[in-house]
Amino acid sequence: MLSSYTFQPLNVGAATACVLLLSMLIVALLFVGDYCTVYRSPRNFDLRHQVVLTFDDGPNPHADTTRRLGDVLEKHNVTAYHCIIGQYAREYPELVRLIDSRGGILVNHGFSHRSPIASSSDIRRDYEQGTNAILAALENPTARVSHIRPAYAVVTPAIYKYAASAKQKLLPFTISLDDFSHGPTGKDDVVKRLLAAIRKNNGGIVILHEGRYHTDESKAAHLRNDPSSGYNRSWIPDAVDELITKLKAEGFEFVTLE
Ligand SMILES: [Zn+2]
Repeated sequence: MLSSYTFQPLNVGAATACVLLLSMLIVALLFVGDYCTVYRSPRNFDLRHQVVLTFDDGPNPHADTTRRLGDVLEKHNVTAYHCIIGQYAREYPELVRLIDSRGGILVNHGFSHRSPIASSSDIRRDYEQGTNAILAALENPTARVSHIRPAYAVVTPAIYKYAASAKQKLLPFTISLDDFSHGPTGKDDVVKRLLAAIRKNNGGIVILHEGRYHTDESKAAHLRNDPSSGYNRSWIPDAVDELITKLKAEGFEFVTLE
């Protein structure tokens, strides 16, 4: 008797709470999904044997990653989008200038990789700061940042609003594998899966990570030395070299978006 008395009301309450939570989750997913679909749908792009390369979370001075990546892109005569974290632009302005001097396209990726559930005013401030950090690094206040890629690739109404007011186009993507969770030991697997996805879709707008962001720099420094950690991006230039070499041999063209 005691157990039924104890459990029955709790079960009803838990069931109601579950239904409510589930409903809220579905509404939230529909809301977010709506924006994500617009943002990343391959149907929006007419890529015919063409590939667009985009690199998130740089610039990255560790293991000379950004500089070596630039060497690879220059060797293959490929122009890519570099989605810059404003905080890193402030710390390593010479790398932002290096990307720009080699013809790379600088993209606003926010100042501190804010979560999409941050308040609208926080988001606006962060992306404004992101733009300003790139312009300050370039030492050219009249330069323009033409594109924005939201952190976590989630577009919220606040980001849409900021992008429109700053006249920054959303940089889309169609292929995003979990390259950010792999260290050098995952290189071959990531390249293999990227090649398969690009061949299957006859091209694609690809996200790779030239850096990683962590609010705690001491933790990030520790992770960068772990070969299996996604914070170790030292393998990205070699992976890109292999990717471009193989795809060009199959007739793929590396392009930028209009
Ligand atoms: Zn990012």
